[in-house]
Amino acid sequence: MNDGIIDSHCHLDMPAFDEDRRQVLERARSAGVNGFIVPGTTRESWRKILDISASEADVYPAFGLHPYFCFAHNTAQTEQLRALAETTRPVAIGEIGLDFHRKDLEQKRQLHLLELQLRIAQDLNLPVILHTRKAHDQMLKLLRQYSLKGGVCHAFNGSWQHARQYMDLGFCMGFGGMLTYERSSKLRALAAKIPLAYLLLETDAPDMPGAAHQYQRNSPEYLPEVLDTLADIRPEDRSSIARATTANVKRVFALPDRKPPTADPPDG
Ligand SMILES: [Zn+2]
Repeated sequence: MNDGIIDSHCHLDMPAFDEDRRQVLERARSAGVNGFIVPGTTRESWRKILDISASEADVYPAFGLHPYFCFAHNTAQTEQLRALAETTRPVAIGEIGLDFHRKDLEQKRQLHLLELQLRIAQDLNLPVILHTRKAHDQMLKLLRQYSLKGGVCHAFNGSWQHARQYMDLGFCMGFGGMLTYERSSKLRALAAKIPLAYLLLETDAPDMPGAAHQYQRNSPEYLPEVLDTLADIRPEDRSSIARATTANVKRVFALPDRKPPTADPPDG
């Protein structure tokens, strides 16, 4: 196992990276980031993510329908998701979830789409990448109804009680740029308390920039700043946290040491 760290959640397919995606990846690799998990958000995102992961050996695709865009998603798309995941075997089903913070997103619709996608993850024996805001109790209740391989609570924002229940279900907690703000005292306390075996590093780029890049585009090249913050607030040293979080992300997503060539996706 090498010494690099892995960005467990970055949206490299987004238009914000269209101009300089290659350079961003190069700079991230130079900064010691040598793996990138790119979760899908809409049906349209899947092909672009496949294309990027086909040409970049350290980019790993996940496919899902994000709750932000639930009004554009439908049952037919979840069937396409199942077919695509069956043929291409992404590292996870995601980004899927519940966002009850956003009042404009109908909760019933979000729940329905999430359930269809949890079923796919269960049937295909794939982990899930979860986006959950103001809905942790509902999410935990749902997760208990499926037999899942675990996954990650991306940008974890729940309580310690929630974290314990997720860990019991085999889920890791992802922490990113929010942690780098000194005012994030509650989040920092939580990230310091969670056992090292359940921690993942992420940026959520191009969103959620850290303290050193406020109001700018976030980028996987800034992932070492999340690691630095964890080293400041936890008892372990920086390289132990780097090694452990890399081992965690490889375990959760069953990442191969060397990725086989990506299969061609079916049309549609
Ligand atoms: Zn995301």
